[in-house]
Amino acid sequence: MAKNRALQQWRVEDSIELYGIRNWGAGYFNVSDEGEVVICPQGTRGPHIPIPEIIAGLHERGYDMPVLLRVENILDSRIANIHESFCRAIKNLSYKGAYRGVFPIKVNQQQQVVEKIAQFGTRYHHGMEVGSKAELIAAVSLMRDAEACIVCNGYKDEEFIDLGLLAQRLGFNVFFVMEMPSELEVLLERSKALNVRPNIGVRAKLAVKAGGHWTDSGGERSTFGLSPAQIVDVVDTLKTCGMLDCFRLLHYHLGSQVSNIRDIRTGVMESARLYVGLAQEGAPMGYLDLGGGLAVDYDGSHTNYISSRNYSLDEYCADVVETIMSILDEQDVPHPHIITESGRATVAYYSVLLFNILDVSAVAEVQLPDTLSEDAPEPVRNLQEALAGISLRNLQECYNDAIYYRDEIRQLFFTGRVTLRQRTLAERFFWAIIMRIAREKSKLKNVPRDLEDIDVSLADIYYGNFSVFQSLPDSWAIDQLFPIMPVHRLREFPSRQGIISDITCDSDGRIDHFIDPQGMKPTLDLHPLRDGEEYYLGVFLVGAYQETLGDLHNLMGDTNVVSIRAADDGSYEYVREIRGDSVADILTYVEYEPHRILEDLRGTAEFAVRQGRISPSERFAIMQAFEDGLRGYTYFER
Ligand SMILES: *Cc1c(COP(=O)(O)O)cnc(C)c1O
Repeated sequence: MAKNRALQQWRVEDSIELYGIRNWGAGYFNVSDEGEVVICPQGTRGPHIPIPEIIAGLHERGYDMPVLLRVENILDSRIANIHESFCRAIKNLSYKGAYRGVFPIKVNQQQQVVEKIAQFGTRYHHGMEVGSKAELIAAVSLMRDAEACIVCNGYKDEEFIDLGLLAQRLGFNVFFVMEMPSELEVLLERSKALNVRPNIGVRAKLAVKAGGHWTDSGGERSTFGLSPAQIVDVVDTLKTCGMLDCFRLLHYHLGSQVSNIRDIRTGVMESARLYVGLAQEGAPMGYLDLGGGLAVDYDGSHTNYISSRNYSLDEYCADVVETIMSILDEQDVPHPHIITESGRATVAYYSVLLFNILDVSAVAEVQLPDTLSEDAPEPVRNLQEALAGISLRNLQECYNDAIYYRDEIRQLFFTGRVTLRQRTLAERFFWAIIMRIAREKSKLKNVPRDLEDIDVSLADIYYGNFSVFQSLPDSWAIDQLFPIMPVHRLREFPSRQGIISDITCDSDGRIDHFIDPQGMKPTLDLHPLRDGEEYYLGVFLVGAYQETLGDLHNLMGDTNVVSIRAADDGSYEYVREIRGDSVADILTYVEYEPHRILEDLRGTAEFAVRQGRISPSERFAIMQAFEDGLRGYTYFER
């Protein structure tokens, strides 16, 4: 175990093992000999960019923490990996169709992200999946490639359908996926009116259901999709109006982060059977769209645990291609082009949230009096006795006593029978007992259940300059785990156990579950703060789903966002910078008007002048301060 080395000498390798960076980093992240997290945009053999150096460069350019850092090369590399992996499988198995990836815009709708995907994806004809009119317009405005697919999912009104048909007129390869039976009628009507032959698809409700947080969209009870009987109705309707030749695509979506390859395979199998059925009905088909679900190994455990996956990208691609082939060949149905809508696996790696620690609150070693004064209440005396009597053999008993007497003193305080100072004294004895028990406990072979979590109650609280609600909504909403670690000082032994609290002062605004090879752990190994020196942490793999779900808790706004792009020689440039929300921006979102605010404040200030509280020149300085405040960053500024 690496930690046993703490007393001897902590090495960079120990940090690598402790934080598991090589397990979840997919080759994009590593630790340098200097003990700093480095970004390896081209894998471990290419150039290394130290994150602390990027942070220093940002400070010089006037950007404060928190910052969402995007590494464009990683996005480029992910798109390439997915396509190359599918192409390898297709070639090795002599599959006859092609692979056509699409990016589901809902996973990260930011303009710069979608723009880059359109740009990097062009060489592979990588398209977009859209679920609303807004996403369709965004996709059409950024795409240039007529061969790439635009898959329209979601419940579509007349206007959505019109926009899709018009995009087809412009030369885009648009597919309309029927999510509800009622959509078909509108589609047929509008395509007639606009004189366009649409590419029609259906979303199938599969019987198979994958396990996980995000997978409720699959299974027979899923809200979207057509049952087999409803799909047959679509065939009949299209036959009747002579449009069966427009039926081109079958789609399904099991849900996101499908961590077990067996679920992936079962879904492909069921959909391939449906595909065969449609081909046998005479539909030309040609496309099988497997939706999303390709998971990200957030904890690096390579298991079917919810924050991991028990398969590699290559295994996923080979399994998909092989399964489709085996079923279609059996029935002599030509191989379709394969579409996947991988969002998470495309964008997760490319963003890192960086923030500084503002303060730490630790349960300190407490000073205790040697003798108690005459009037010390009974429970305090009992606690003192319990402390004096701790031994390896009575840890559980002492723990019970400590809790009992602490509760007793609190009760006395509530009823006004002990003073604030007397209560405080009792609490100090209490914590001294807990700390002693925590120390002694490590010598036990079998730790009693009650004492297992005692270290957690002693964990330090590290106050991070960020908002969980704004930047890591899934950590809060569905307890998703992300890899978190310090980005420097990794040659030093991380001697503290901490949890992370954000600055929203909400009790939910904290992170107290961390990745661990054994599942998860309640505290993170961290370094003590050093005077006059910033301590920076990174939350990794946050490119998927975190940006637009964020809310304005305590009016903390969007963080600064900076993209870098590395060249082959290891140099890099800051290619795109987006200032985070100012205080004025954020107030505008909740319908305040900065001009009105200043006007109102001016009125209040002028009144204070008239009352003689402040001088006119003080009024000027005060107003200046409020104007600056409105321009400032919503996060803590040093
Ligand atoms: C959310 C969603 C996706 C993306 O899934 P990932 O697991 O992120 O790849 C793909 N298709 C549909 C229809 C979705 O709703």
